Amino acid sequence: MAKKRNTKTKELVWKVMENSESALTHDDITQSLRGEMDRVTIYRILQGFEEEGLVHKVIDSAGKSHYAICRHCTEHHHHDNHMHFQCVTCGVVNCLDKEVRKPNMPEGYTVEEINYLVTGCCPDCRDDKD
Ligand SMILES: [Zn+2]
Ligand SMILES: [Zn+2]
Ligand SMILES: [Zn+2]
Repeated sequence: MAKKRNTKTKELVWKVMENSESALTHDDITQSLRGEMDRVTIYRILQGFEEEGLVHKVIDSAGKSHYAICRHCTEHHHHDNHMHFQCVTCGVVNCLDKEVRKPNMPEGYTVEEINYLVTGCCPDCRDDKD
């Protein structure tokens, strides 16, 4: 996979994502790379990563896109059927290592993608309350 990330700009965006424990928005990445490249370039890189099966998009409860690194995906084949979690206190969005089973659909419906977002309180915010 490393071979595909051949340009310097792609490498920089990838590093930001790799060093983050949670999913990042376009704004988060732009801020981390302040001055390194413009928003449009970052957006194109993220779209490229998505097509290559390197990152997937998570839509949060406000409809905002976050990007998270894929673990088992290949080019044009995403298998990100895991739960996503958003903390209502700090707003962080994480991939959870819990697979989402395909729901039993009524006849005539086929499942293409499952967006499973759970909201609640993350471990960090829970510790603060103790
Ligand atoms: Zn994926
Ligand atoms: Zn939190
Ligand atoms: Zn995920």
